[in-house]
Amino acid sequence: MQVSQAAPWLDILGCRVHRVDMPTTLEIINQFILERRPRHVITLNAEIIYTALQNPELQQVINQADLVTPDGAGVVWAARFLGCPLQERVTGIDLMVALSRMAAEEGWRVFLLGARPGVAGKAANNLETSFPGLQVVGTQHGYFAEYETDAILTAIREKQPDLLFVALGAPYQEFWIRRYLIDCKVPVAVGVGGSLDVLAGEVARAPEIFIRLNLEWLYRLFQEPKRWRRQLALPRFVFQVFRQKYRSS
Ligand code: UDP
Repeated sequence: MQVSQAAPWLDILGCRVHRVDMPTTLEIINQFILERRPRHVITLNAEIIYTALQNPELQQVINQADLVTPDGAGVVWAARFLGCPLQERVTGIDLMVALSRMAAEEGWRVFLLGARPGVAGKAANNLETSFPGLQVVGTQHGYFAEYETDAILTAIREKQPDLLFVALGAPYQEFWIRRYLIDCKVPVAVGVGGSLDVLAGEVARAPEIFIRLNLEWLYRLFQEPKRWRRQLALPRFVFQVFRQKYRSS
């Protein structure tokens, strides 16, 4: 299945974002797993779209991905502002939890790659407790040297996962997946940013009220004040979306 045909998409600052909600995303990924051809899934937020504006190589990686979900309030706002409203956000953490539930039901094998040593193992235990029957067949921390990559790829291949979650931080994880997807021999690889830290209980997710008010970014700023520099991308993103709209009208 060619997702660009199966799911409608919209262009936000040169990046293709599929107009999918969570149920459609799960359906498409289920289909990918049945088809067993290597597929790259990105949950795309405003910060990365803005970064891609200055980095054509990143924009190319995003536009070559098989499925790009709208991650974050900024993307949902931009879609509405550009006249293509979306149903909802499909964030990395929500997608990872939903896919883990489905993996337990369907018998899919899962591999977790990324975060500091010990974190992926803790996240695996927590997921296996939440979703009895889930098979996390391998974990690997994300602070390895270039020369260790081959051994890691071999370990992933040997475990034969159906789903590989890559939590190396965006956009590095997107480049990593693009480069090594074929070598991993995995039907689906998803970049999930800081999700392993949350699932391991190392970092708290924003309280429900922040999530509902689309203010998760603000909560993250309180938690990690040094993110302010990265979050400067948000007002710049908004400015560029205004330009996109009024240029093309
Ligand atoms: N990380 C990693 N290897 C690296 C750099 C980062 O495994 O070389 C991990 C880091 O430990 C964290 C995640 O990648 O778990 C990035 O989290 P962050 O919240 O910065 O990512 P975002 O969700 O914004 O992409």
